Amino acid sequence: MDFTRREFLKFSTATGAGLMFGLFDLKPIVAFAQANPPIWARETISVCGYCSVGCSMIIGSQEGGYVTYVQGNPDSPINKGSLCSKGSAAAQLSTIVSNDTGKMVPNPRRLTKVKYRAPYSTVWEDREYGWAIRAIAERVQTTRDSTFVDVGVKAPETGLTVNRCEGIASLGAAAFHNESCYLITKLMRALGVVYLEHQARV
Ligand code: SF4
Repeated sequence: MDFTRREFLKFSTATGAGLMFGLFDLKPIVAFAQANPPIWARETISVCGYCSVGCSMIIGSQEGGYVTYVQGNPDSPINKGSLCSKGSAAAQLSTIVSNDTGKMVPNPRRLTKVKYRAPYSTVWEDREYGWAIRAIAERVQTTRDSTFVDVGVKAPETGLTVNRCEGIASLGAAAFHNESCYLITKLMRALGVVYLEHQARV
């Protein structure tokens, strides 16, 4: 079912009003949640990847590594145990409720491999993460070496050499927090990149 933005806002407002005035019966949802409590075999401390606030999470997972449960980490000085609604739903990144059994199962559509499309190709191929990281490193080095500008002079004011890489630009995402920005800036400056920007939210 497709929604326009206007229809979505109308629907959300009507639903919110219905919940506020008790027009909808939430008992079946509560009963379902109580009858199907999340179960997990191990817990992992991690960081929410959705935005730059960087809330710490305790993540419960089952055998095979699929996530069944997420809660805020009370030991984190950033979020002190809280998560926003989006972060609270992060378990759905790897888990869905089966239509057949009503149980939580690994999401069969979750991508676990890198999707690679070679230049000029129309075909997507599955590749391993190790391959992708090596390919990125090789291409960064090739581009950097072939576009490095060796001006061979020092800036008169500082006496510093102003060589630079003009073939690479770096644009960071809104999910970057201060620490990520620091690291990416360090890396790019070390490569000599001068076109450097990011979309920070905090
Ligand atoms: S504010 Fe929400 S989306 Fe952002 S890091 Fe925290 S839980 Fe994740």
